[in-house]
Amino acid sequence: MSIQTINPFENNVVKTFDEMPDEKIDQAVLKGHKAFQTWRKTPFAERAKVLSQAAAIMRRKKEEFARIITTEMGKLINEARGEVALSADILDYYATHAESFLKNQTVKVAQGEAFIEFCPIGVILGVEPWNFPFYQVVRIAGPNIMVGNTVLIKHASNVPQCGIALENIFREAGAPDGVFTNLLISSKKVNQVIKNPLIAGVSLTGSETAGAEVAATAGKSLKKSVLELGGSDPFIVLEDADIDQTIRSAVFAKMNNTGQCCVAAKRFIVMDKVADEFIKKLSEQLATLKVGDPLDEKTTLGPLSSEAAARQLQTQIEDTVKLGAKVVLGGKRPERSGAFVSPTILVDVKPGMPAYNEELFGPVATIFRVKTDQEAIDLANDSLFGLGASIFSNNKARATEMATQIDSGMVFINHPTWTAPELPFGGTKSSGYGRELSEMGIFEFVNKKLIRTSEYSDPF
Ligand code: NAP
Repeated sequence: MSIQTINPFENNVVKTFDEMPDEKIDQAVLKGHKAFQTWRKTPFAERAKVLSQAAAIMRRKKEEFARIITTEMGKLINEARGEVALSADILDYYATHAESFLKNQTVKVAQGEAFIEFCPIGVILGVEPWNFPFYQVVRIAGPNIMVGNTVLIKHASNVPQCGIALENIFREAGAPDGVFTNLLISSKKVNQVIKNPLIAGVSLTGSETAGAEVAATAGKSLKKSVLELGGSDPFIVLEDADIDQTIRSAVFAKMNNTGQCCVAAKRFIVMDKVADEFIKKLSEQLATLKVGDPLDEKTTLGPLSSEAAARQLQTQIEDTVKLGAKVVLGGKRPERSGAFVSPTILVDVKPGMPAYNEELFGPVATIFRVKTDQEAIDLANDSLFGLGASIFSNNKARATEMATQIDSGMVFINHPTWTAPELPFGGTKSSGYGRELSEMGIFEFVNKKLIRTSEYSDPF
């Protein structure tokens, strides 16, 4: 895949970029390594200043960055503004809290003293997806820059201008050369970068295929990896839920970012007693979405990230329907140019159908009926993925008891699965391992070094 901005609204090529030659890639890694030697010893206050400055630049130029995001991957302009603002908040969060998160931890010992010191480990490679092209990058950059690591980003090939904009932001914020570097490379070069002895760890957010390959290469090189992969999040609606409130959450959970969120609601699991009402109301709401130019404030459903993504999703819909699922809404692509897929609702989805087993990355809802809490939990857990989940009910105790039985990294009650700087984000099963954001996220790429002092004594 060449490195290009292709506006998915019209599928027109906006700009093409040359890939970095091998020599430049090696130089970038070396630059990151050299910067690490100084950055690891730079006081927290100075590191924090860089992040706070970067956050301020993001806020000041929010409109400019939002337009780049929307042009490159098609999200609604207002969602893009929200993403830039959230990214700034994440940088500020780590600027404010990192020093206290990383303070030495005392270990109780019988005699003498012991403590853990949290040390940076070196150059961290982030392999990032296009769906949140600013937010995903700061989830890696924020904590690692505060730890004292340096960061190299290999961004998705369809959002090169976002990668370049981020490098410029950190430079303008005063980051020394090599603290944050954007690599304009294709995925074919990722293994080569991981194998470079100067790379200390790698974090990938993306598909299972990419994650498995990156983790295998990291494993062979004895390097730590973090994987933030796909999801097939259940959205469980109990019969005692406030249906109108729940529908508002359902529309957001499904349609935010045109359904291209790892934590989008992918499977609505609804109690039989309220299923007809839920399906009717959700269909009515999704049918009102206005497809159009994502830069137009009036548009409420943008294109997918690329024509290839739209075709793949449409094939998943059609193959599911061929195997017996029913279309309640949509099901066909709108007759217009651009990478659009109509809002779609599928019912009677069964194991073996693509919509049951695979992640549907777009505006397609599947709705399942269940009769008991246990049936809802079993269906929610009948997935290779385990990223997020949400449960809607007026009985918080009942919903919390169900939440404890769901195999996922995050469960939200009466709210769509979502993100905030202070909430740990990540999954289990094929959704990956490790956590980003929150206090937990800062400990992924640190050496937890024990320092033990004692009085002289004979060792054992
Ligand atoms: P993808 O194809 O895996 O791409 C993600 C990144 O990995 C891109 O930079 C891509 O580069 C690179 N890549 C692809 N194949 C690779 C390989 N074999 N070796 C090394 N790098 C490789 O994922 P996507 O389809 O664009 O992104 C959507 C996926 O990300 C969904 O499954 C979504 O659920 C998941 N996601 C997860 C989270 C989370 O936090 N758990 C958050 C957001 C998205 P190129 O673009 O050059 O191919």
